[in-house]
Amino acid sequence: MLDPRVARRVRLLALDVDGVLTDNGVYIGAAGGGERVELKRFDIQDGLGLALLDGTGIRVAIISGRRSEATALRARELRIDDVLQDSGARKVPLLASLLDKHGLGWDEVAFVGDDLADVPVMQRVGLPIAVANAVPEMKAIAAYVTEASGGRGAVREVVTAVLRARDEYDAAVARYLAARDGHDS
Ligand SMILES: [Mg+2]
Repeated sequence: MLDPRVARRVRLLALDVDGVLTDNGVYIGAAGGGERVELKRFDIQDGLGLALLDGTGIRVAIISGRRSEATALRARELRIDDVLQDSGARKVPLLASLLDKHGLGWDEVAFVGDDLADVPVMQRVGLPIAVANAVPEMKAIAAYVTEASGGRGAVREVVTAVLRARDEYDAAVARYLAARDGHDS
């Protein structure tokens, strides 16, 4: 169970991509014309979980250490505006600029990661979260370790845990369903 006081402070959920939104697999191949093609596998239940954050005041951002068109496409589907990809995996300055842009503090950030590139960010945020498949160095500094693995519902688990700790989960589900029953004005 997350500390409700910590969960209530969260105004930004920042997500690593590989190993968090995916199972860490990257499919590399070539199209008919020989162009390089890179595919990733995302979890649909994670996507619905992020939709549950609509109306809660928690925004979502993607902070990736790998440039990928697949990530950009998935982010567009999920209507995530803040997609920061740096091939050098310098995630602290990326996130710092985002906090600046939105006027947020590090203590208002929940971050989910899996590997060493995420450690510097984890050491700064208010709610550092490691996925089940994270390396030991990440789990050691995490306030919460998910039971689910990346690409297998870890992000859905995080959203549910944060909203439950804030006592906002039932309302978020009700809001999601009401927006889809076809009867609201
Ligand atoms: Mg990763």
